[in-house]
Amino acid sequence: MSSRPEILFPLFAEIDSLRGVGPKVAKALSAIDVSRPRDLLFTLPHSVVDRRKRETVKGARPSQIVTVEATINRHWLPGKRGQPHRVEVADSQTVFTLVFFRGDAQYLQELLPTGQRRIVSGKIDIYDGRIQMAHPDYALPVGGAEDIPEFEPLYPLTAGVSQKVMRKAAAAALERAADLDEWIDPGQKAKAGWPDWREALARAHAPDGEGTQAQIARQRLVYDELMAHQLTLGLARTKMRRSAGRSTAGDRRFRDKVFAALPFAPTVAQSRAMAEIEADMAEGRRMNRLLQGDVGSGKTLVAFNALLAGVEAGGQGALMAPTGILARQHHATLLPLAQAAGVSIEILTSQDRGAARKRKLEALAEGGIDILLGTQAVFQDDVAFADLRVAVVDEQHRFGVQQRLELGRKGAGVDVLVMTATPIPRSMALAQFGDMDVSVLNEKPPGRRPIKTAIIGMDSLEKVIARLREAIAEGRQAYWVCPLVEESEALKTFANAEARHAALRDALGADAVGLVHGQMPVEERDAAMEAFREGRTSVLVATTVIEVGMDVAAASIIVIESAERFGLAQLHQLRGRVGRADAESSCVLLCGQTLSGTAKRRLETIRGTEDGFKIAEEDLRTRGSGDLIGTVQSGLPKFRIADLAANGDLLDIAQSDARTLLHNDPDLESKRGRAARTLLWLMERDQAIRLIKVG
Ligand code: ADP
Ligand code: MG
Repeated sequence: MSSRPEILFPLFAEIDSLRGVGPKVAKALSAIDVSRPRDLLFTLPHSVVDRRKRETVKGARPSQIVTVEATINRHWLPGKRGQPHRVEVADSQTVFTLVFFRGDAQYLQELLPTGQRRIVSGKIDIYDGRIQMAHPDYALPVGGAEDIPEFEPLYPLTAGVSQKVMRKAAAAALERAADLDEWIDPGQKAKAGWPDWREALARAHAPDGEGTQAQIARQRLVYDELMAHQLTLGLARTKMRRSAGRSTAGDRRFRDKVFAALPFAPTVAQSRAMAEIEADMAEGRRMNRLLQGDVGSGKTLVAFNALLAGVEAGGQGALMAPTGILARQHHATLLPLAQAAGVSIEILTSQDRGAARKRKLEALAEGGIDILLGTQAVFQDDVAFADLRVAVVDEQHRFGVQQRLELGRKGAGVDVLVMTATPIPRSMALAQFGDMDVSVLNEKPPGRRPIKTAIIGMDSLEKVIARLREAIAEGRQAYWVCPLVEESEALKTFANAEARHAALRDALGADAVGLVHGQMPVEERDAAMEAFREGRTSVLVATTVIEVGMDVAAASIIVIESAERFGLAQLHQLRGRVGRADAESSCVLLCGQTLSGTAKRRLETIRGTEDGFKIAEEDLRTRGSGDLIGTVQSGLPKFRIADLAANGDLLDIAQSDARTLLHNDPDLESKRGRAARTLLWLMERDQAIRLIKVG
């Protein structure tokens, strides 16, 4: 499919080609991301003004817009400069005042002749206990009442664009929308009572008093947006499935040895996930699977199991971690297990340069390395595998569909497993990973005790440090997390961490406290982590570099400074650094003395539950989906109408509809399929369009 359908051309013209939109307005509109008529169509009014005529202004709320018929009683001309011109009028039940701060007396007297009746419409104020209306929007003879619209939509505005301009522009854009063939499943459409696309737009832009019609119309438009996204994910999924895969089924010889060497048995959830993954890998098509599990649920073992299956089948495995620290940690935990099984495991990060890197790459290309761990470096262009069979991406929620597709290029039909600890509410998971199959670790290893979480004011800092001193004396270990000040102020962040490090060294002893942050040379950072891991230091002061994945089972205390500055999901991840063994653990949320109500509630949510999914739902509720995971980072598109937090039910339907449609018509060639293509163009899902077979 090569070009945009002609029927959509008028919607993708320059915005100033619309009647009433000049270059100035066009420029102003670009501030709210409106650059073409299409964008205006999807910029819906957020509310509506009801200008239906009423009997009286009596009983109106301040700020309410009211339209009444009234008799003009008299004019009060301004006595002094700066005083308003006032007009006393009477509707059927009460007397009130029209107020004008501008406009000359003669004009106003002609507009509102004493003794005559006029329809006035405007915003009501109560001033000195009396009802008044300043600068009515309309003042017309009774016969001209039809000129007042019963309902007026209110649009989101930006500087330089008034409601009036917005209304005119939206109306002009609407005229350009053609009737489009239907892409929605007829059953779904009938059940929901949705209008056709064009009609839905017209209704959503013209809400009436109750707004029911507009609401239903809006639902359809939300659905369209979600459907376009699910089709994109679905096409990626279909493509992934179609591309030749290989059946990878090992004989368990390495896995058996590894499990024999483990000091624990896998949980039921781990066993189930491993079985799902093994079955998926054994099939002839490519695996495209998400492994979702809360912090500490034991994802690493499940991933390792998949890698080993690939090696048993005679191939190689790769695991990519988001940071070098994590890659090295994986290496440290997995190396002894790999050795027990006789599997060779290596690590490749950006630190490997020159001859060392060359040696590793050669070994990899010759098959001398079975499993490669590392950062993004693992998938760089010059890295060639002898026979990559399975690729695991750890904690990589910042990966979009396109990148997942590209991952597979390193080998013939590579099986892909993405792991995430970010507890994503179902609606988000659907939106973000709707192209993948999902395995879930819904339990933690046995014996874990609840983490005691306390919210403590910064004024008690000394007490917290004193308690920490006692805990260290008992042999416990602690993280101390300093917040990222702001991305633009990275240096300040590190300065804060360094200052806290110095202060804690003074208080607890120079040898007892280590430091890691993003600005340190990697060697120093590694040394500090090693020292903490081996128990040579008791406290590790850190920035959020430890947020994901850090696994030091002996650490049982985490202090989070300025906790109110972190997102809920982030706090949950950080807290997940402790409670990784059966010892009692605690988490101290240090916060400023003046917390807003919301900030307080958010911290209380963390204190109240350790369930990552509950926390994520709360986060989504209080912040909206845009913030939970930065949209750009997550690879999620910008939704103009849909709200993932509020429209979870529609998302479910859209996913299943998209999958059914693609199942029956994978190349979108039926009538409905063609209509769906138009939808993809309309929503600018270029990625999806590229995935459709040209034809
Ligand atoms: P995640 O990556 O899901 O946060 P990890 O894979 O880092 O979790 O595992 C957390 C900790 O639990 C590790 O120390 C790991 O060795 C341990 N662990 C994993 N599976 C089990 C199990 N079945 N029983 C006991 N401990 C386990
Ligand atoms: Mg992990």
